[in-house]
Amino acid sequence: MNRRTSADLPAGGVQVLSEDAATVRSVKVTQAYRFALDPTPRQERVLRSHAGAARFAWNWGLTACRDRYDAEGKWWSGIELHRLWNRVKKSDPALGWWGEHSKCVYQEAFRDLDRALREFVASRNGVRRGRRLGFPRFKKRGRCRDSFRFGAGVMRCSGRTVTLPRMGAIATHESTRKLARRLENGTARILSATVSRIAHRWYVSFTVQVDRDVPERHARPGGAVGIDLGVRTLLTAVDDRGAIIELDGPKSLRAGLRKLQRLGKACSRKQRGSANRAKAAARLARHHARITNVRADALHKATSMLAARYEIVVVEDLNVLGMLANRRLARRVADASFGAARRMLEYKTGWNTGRLITAGRWYPSSKTCSGCGERKPSLPLSERTFRCDACDLVLGRDVNAARNLLGLAASGAERVNACGGDMRPGPAGLTPAKQEPGATPGVEDRDRRRASDGRPEPCSHPITARVTGAR
Ligand SMILES: [Zn+2]
Repeated sequence: MNRRTSADLPAGGVQVLSEDAATVRSVKVTQAYRFALDPTPRQERVLRSHAGAARFAWNWGLTACRDRYDAEGKWWSGIELHRLWNRVKKSDPALGWWGEHSKCVYQEAFRDLDRALREFVASRNGVRRGRRLGFPRFKKRGRCRDSFRFGAGVMRCSGRTVTLPRMGAIATHESTRKLARRLENGTARILSATVSRIAHRWYVSFTVQVDRDVPERHARPGGAVGIDLGVRTLLTAVDDRGAIIELDGPKSLRAGLRKLQRLGKACSRKQRGSANRAKAAARLARHHARITNVRADALHKATSMLAARYEIVVVEDLNVLGMLANRRLARRVADASFGAARRMLEYKTGWNTGRLITAGRWYPSSKTCSGCGERKPSLPLSERTFRCDACDLVLGRDVNAARNLLGLAASGAERVNACGGDMRPGPAGLTPAKQEPGATPGVEDRDRRRASDGRPEPCSHPITARVTGAR
């Protein structure tokens, strides 16, 4: 069961030090509050019907746009589609059911289609970054996500219910008081509500403008941390005092993988189109949803803790799409949800008046020695220990990478190629920033390490403190 709302997460057991009322300012932020719904059977039918209406509106609009494009070489905008719909719906007897749903549902579907078409054009013209987008496709029941949105109307929540236009009060699985309290005292305003279904469960996600109290400065000014988002572990971080934070992921996917395999196999053995197949597919979807929730929970806790503890957070801008294309890595990368972690850090550092520094995609954090700055030509992923040929530093691979990232904060680099994911490495590459003074190991250290015959020996490094399982 998903009990997560993206708002007001606990700071992972971290005590925020100073909380002077005078040093807090109010900032308007847009954030989501998401609740799992517990509708009655009748309400669930209404929910499904609305999702169907949104799907129909999308397909209807897409057909209209295609027809016009074939005839005139251009398509309709979202507003034009809505006007067209309002004319047609009353004259066409086949559309007599239109009045059963909130008008918002159609309007928002046209708006979505409008945006999809714009994004398609932007992508084709090279204006939009990221993967190339295709032309919007038709939605098919059972194959697309059941979802619709309200952009206006009565949207409220109180206690354990939410009120939506045309639906009235729907029970929720969890208390909505966090949002209800804010709505009551006027520090929040609901902008829209999106209702969607994941596996067997319906959710409502309110997009809310919130007056958030943000401190004038970070509770622990000056603290910095470098974070290496891991494949084996959830993340490895090194802070400016040399403490290592290693967080094991929930391993939710791996742990649930056997069950996933079993359920997947059971599903594929059932006859296509049979009732048993549908039941098995539902069980499989439920299990997937559960794994996703466990994963999101662990990431939320970890990122909240880091954003509360450190003013400056440095992460890598990983090429997530590129990594997902690598099929052997893909499952684990997806499990670790790199992209989600970075997004969470982005807004949570903002809420704590911290700063997120994103190292460029081509910054060689793993290949560079965090002791002397020597860069290896290559480092296979199977090598879990970093051994420097120049200064004989022996360090865990992830710890070394995290230390390099931390070095970017210490070097005062404002933003290292912050949003330039598409940037190519220059002829000189992105030379790693100089490390903090004192990190270069002394001669005695070096001799001692030579004597250890290159075995991994993390204790020989100045970094000794170890924070594990910081929840
Ligand atoms: Zn070195």
